[in-house]
Amino acid sequence: MVIGVPKEVKDHESRVGITPAGVKALVDAGHKVLVETKAGELSAFPDDEYQAAGAEIVGSAYDTWRLADMVVKVKEPVEKEYQNFRSGLVLFTYLHLAPIAGLTNALLEKGVIGIAYETVRDRVGSLPLLTPMSEVAGRLSVQVGAAYLQKEHGGRGVLLGGVPGVPPGNVVIIGGGVVGVNAAKMALGLGAKVTLIDLNLNRLRELDDIFNGRLYTLASNSYNIHRAACEADLLIGGVLIPGAAAPKLVTAEMVSKMKRGAVIVDVAIDQGGCIETARPTTHSNPSYVVDGVVHYCVTNMPAAVPNTSTLALTNATFPYVLKLAALGARTAIREDVGIAEGVNTYNGVLTYEAVAQSQAREW
Ligand code: NAD
Repeated sequence: MVIGVPKEVKDHESRVGITPAGVKALVDAGHKVLVETKAGELSAFPDDEYQAAGAEIVGSAYDTWRLADMVVKVKEPVEKEYQNFRSGLVLFTYLHLAPIAGLTNALLEKGVIGIAYETVRDRVGSLPLLTPMSEVAGRLSVQVGAAYLQKEHGGRGVLLGGVPGVPPGNVVIIGGGVVGVNAAKMALGLGAKVTLIDLNLNRLRELDDIFNGRLYTLASNSYNIHRAACEADLLIGGVLIPGAAAPKLVTAEMVSKMKRGAVIVDVAIDQGGCIETARPTTHSNPSYVVDGVVHYCVTNMPAAVPNTSTLALTNATFPYVLKLAALGARTAIREDVGIAEGVNTYNGVLTYEAVAQSQAREW
């Protein structure tokens, strides 16, 4: 199979769909890999590394798409990429179709087989291609939060670990899933006092065991969230209700009662955010202040650390790439129910119910 890896064109997207290691494995398996020039540059994978691994470097995005049987990307195509779609092309990437009717229409009109990372499932029914980016975002949320707590970034000048004779900073994490547990690990590693809030009591029991009492757990309700928010130096939002917008668990009124110079990192912002005062921001303009509280609400946090993120993402996606290349998409979809779950568009038919519902299409 011929596999194309175009350079990402979405604003500030610095990851790449396949690494040189992936190229080598595909070439060893008898496939041909076309990599658009500079596709991996921002992730610290230069063209010559791809070439050494056996890739052919292609001068334009147009040719990378046109000559490939399957295109492997990171982000959903933006409008100027739609012209590259054609019947029978396999597109394996994050698609996030629900809010993007234009992209859905373009994939359907051109008969592209669109397989979305975010809906592929593994044997236990979880979403293996979302997990690595939540791990990155969870860990990064503490790193970013610690930096914004510094005075020069508008924070209240608190060192999360404290020092002997001075208490550590208070980190409050709402949501104890992948983002939450990774944030907790980093915050505890820095020596902060960490409180984690979740609705799921069994999850809190598990986390209490894992962290052996080093973590304070709280059941999620408005009263507990209010009290914890008032005490927080750093408040991290990491809740998810699959398929739905995040609930606004921290109200604007609670934010107005937080300490001046406290920092909010709402990781759940890609699902609308779980903090009422949060609105999506970008890497070029990542933060703003409401009631003296610094807000960081970047929707694609992993793009800030593209080398790590690309490696983490491709570790998870690559086995699927190899399978799709080896069997061809049609057979792979028939044989692997997890890959079949990833199919959102197939030969002009919308095959993912939640997308159809969110776009009020007939199903
Ligand atoms: P997850 O499913 O692993 O965890 C979500 C947790 O939220 C669960 O433990 C659940 O019990 C908890 N929860 C649900 N309702 C709650 C409530 N009312 N109160 C408290 N807890 C509640 O999800 P995840 O992988 O950790 O992802 C969390 C969010 O982060 C998602 O919206 C995801 O899309 C987002 N995310 C954003 C970025 C970014 O760049 N901004 C990157 C990765 C993930």
